Amino acid sequence: SSFLDLHLSRPLLRACEALGYTKPTPIQAACIPLALTGRDICGSAITGSGKTAAFALPTLERLLFRPKHRPAIRVLILTPTRELAVQIHSMIGKLAQFVTDIRCCLVLGGLSVKAQEAALRSMPDIVVATPGRIIDHLRNSMSVDLDDLAVLILDEADRLLELGFEAEIRELVRLCPKRRQTMLFSATMTEQVDELIKLLLNKPLRLSA
Ligand code: AMP
Repeated sequence: SSFLDLHLSRPLLRACEALGYTKPTPIQAACIPLALTGRDICGSAITGSGKTAAFALPTLERLLFRPKHRPAIRVLILTPTRELAVQIHSMIGKLAQFVTDIRCCLVLGGLSVKAQEAALRSMPDIVVATPGRIIDHLRNSMSVDLDDLAVLILDEADRLLELGFEAEIRELVRLCPKRRQTMLFSATMTEQVDELIKLLLNKPLRLSA
């Protein structure tokens, strides 16, 4: 199969070409068409499988085709570690290099709280965050909310749980609109991950690649 079969628009196809991606990886071929339908998705996928582009490409496509009515955070990506957050943020920058007008910001422990508060208040379209830090901002700021969130993504769900972020995730989900698309990826599917899937996802399609 080729990226041309996946119904992505030109700026995203150009980015794949510029990155030297000639064909989708198995998780991308499985995930992208399903994610574009708006259904919830859970997938077992490890780092190196191309899972970042598997969730980022359909998410960017959705932002391109659903113009915003007001500046707002429309996508929240939760990751267990700063390293992973930095990687995802960088990958989204590359995939969105030919897209104008989509902004992505990082919210992490260890960075300046003031600078992140300012970044969040400017309502970036996409926020890549570790759960603890984004919760702090949402609790403490009157001007930052998730009311217009369209897509929630949890990457490495098993590690998020191992690191003890379950309470933060439950709190975050209460701040998200009920009507949204949720995607969850995990290297392992433990009982605890399954419980999280039941809590967060609505009739999810299950992928493994
Ligand atoms: P990930 O599993 O998302 O961490 O991606 C692992 C690596 O694979 C990254 O360096 C990506 O740039 C690369 N990659 C992702 N999709 C493709 C593709 N379709 N063809 C070639 N490399 C890819």
